Amino acid sequence: MRYSGFRVIKEALTGHKGWKPVWREPEPKAHYDIIVIGGGGHGLATAHYLSKVYGQRNVAVVEKGWIGGGNVGRNTTIVRSNYMLDGNEPFYEFSMKLWEGLEQDLNYNAMMSQRGIINLFHTDGQRDAYTRRGNAMILNGADAELLDADQVRKEHPYLNFDDARFPIKGGLVQRRAGTARHDAVAWGFARSADLQGVDIIQNCEVTGLRIENGKCLGVETTKGFIGANKVGCAVAGSSGRVMGMAGMRLPIESHVLQAFVSEGLKPVLPSVITFGAGHFYVSQSDKGGLVFGGDLDGYNTYAQRGNLPVVEDVCEGGVALMPMIGRARLLRMWGGVMDMSMDGSPIIDRTPVEGLYFNGGWCYGGFKATPASGHCFAHLLAKDEPHPVATAYRLDRFQTGRMIDEKGVGNQPNLH
Ligand SMILES: Cc1cc2nc3c(=O)[nH]c(=O)nc-3n(C[C@H](O)[C@H](O)[C@H](O)COP(=O)(O)OP(=O)(O)OC[C@H]3O[C@@H](n4cnc5c(N)ncnc54)[C@H](O)[C@@H]3O)c2cc1C
Repeated sequence: MRYSGFRVIKEALTGHKGWKPVWREPEPKAHYDIIVIGGGGHGLATAHYLSKVYGQRNVAVVEKGWIGGGNVGRNTTIVRSNYMLDGNEPFYEFSMKLWEGLEQDLNYNAMMSQRGIINLFHTDGQRDAYTRRGNAMILNGADAELLDADQVRKEHPYLNFDDARFPIKGGLVQRRAGTARHDAVAWGFARSADLQGVDIIQNCEVTGLRIENGKCLGVETTKGFIGANKVGCAVAGSSGRVMGMAGMRLPIESHVLQAFVSEGLKPVLPSVITFGAGHFYVSQSDKGGLVFGGDLDGYNTYAQRGNLPVVEDVCEGGVALMPMIGRARLLRMWGGVMDMSMDGSPIIDRTPVEGLYFNGGWCYGGFKATPASGHCFAHLLAKDEPHPVATAYRLDRFQTGRMIDEKGVGNQPNLH
């Protein structure tokens, strides 16, 4: 069924009786060409591109809970490509371009809104760093603009310019950045993959990997063994657990990251804003809620909820940047488990086990990467070679020293 304005009107006039379930609920087959573990954004995007771009239809996505129940439905929905390093920027700009055509590609309204992002700077040194970043973005085909304090004040008059502890000196803007409705992205990829014949198997936890003579033969699950020629793991915060089933210890730690949403307000924030003097970022959802977040809780955990010290820290950052946020009532808060890598950049690679592939280490930033991650992982699974924009995301870079450390903080996963 194709979605269209005409279809909406027809269904409205006929009592909405013609809508069909958006994906099937199949029982697992005994064997697939490719199994993707994890029905988050990345797993579902991988299935979509495997079937649509690489012609692989005998594919299953195996999800332990319900699709969209993980980080893809818990993030703060920001998409952008304002990265600096060669290993990263071409990949994130590729993702940005996929976002720009995603709704047409999926025939699904993901509420992609290119409302822009501004990274504020508060010192001369930060201005230099952001200028360099903006130039790197432009060299890689992305858009970037540097605003001075007066220009920022014109666009964002509600920020604290008068008695701020860290005065705003300007900002780096990417106008093509913005937000997308996160769970609709998961549903759109799921619907498209299902339409191409991919089996999406929910409530099916992978409990083991069957490996014989160095080759992965399939997955042990709560619904029994499912065989596969190739198995791709895209389980985000559970990466360490699942790859541990293959005897691998990853250069990844799991941490909890919290997010917050206020009551609905009239339109006040025209774009996404990040504070350069503290860890705080905010945007306004289409429903009016201020969606914001900040730092990790700072300890290793698999719990999808955080603690009060970080709530306080995030709220302090918010009030320092835009005092009016102190008047908004907090509606909800939640946490998600982040797969923090040692250099802050992801991994999309084969593993030493034949037929076993890994996608993870997305840290704070995996939502914006969803389409490119799926595309590049599908490329790797289908062709056994990395996609040209993802060649740097090798698992062995931590041995060879070819880190992609965007923040320059070293092997401190909690700081990336
Ligand atoms: C609070 C918060 C805010 C964020 N904000 C942003 C943002 O603004 N912009 C941005 O780019 N990124 C953001 N992120 C990061 C982003 O959400 C993640 O990097 C990205 O969603 C991870 O990929 P995923 O969607 O595939 O993960 P998930 O949705 O977590 O998918 C992994 C799936 O694997 C399943 N799984 C785990 N173990 C098993 C098993 N044994 N068997 C079967 N299935 C299993 C899980 O149930 C889960 O559904 C944020 C994250 C959080 C938590």
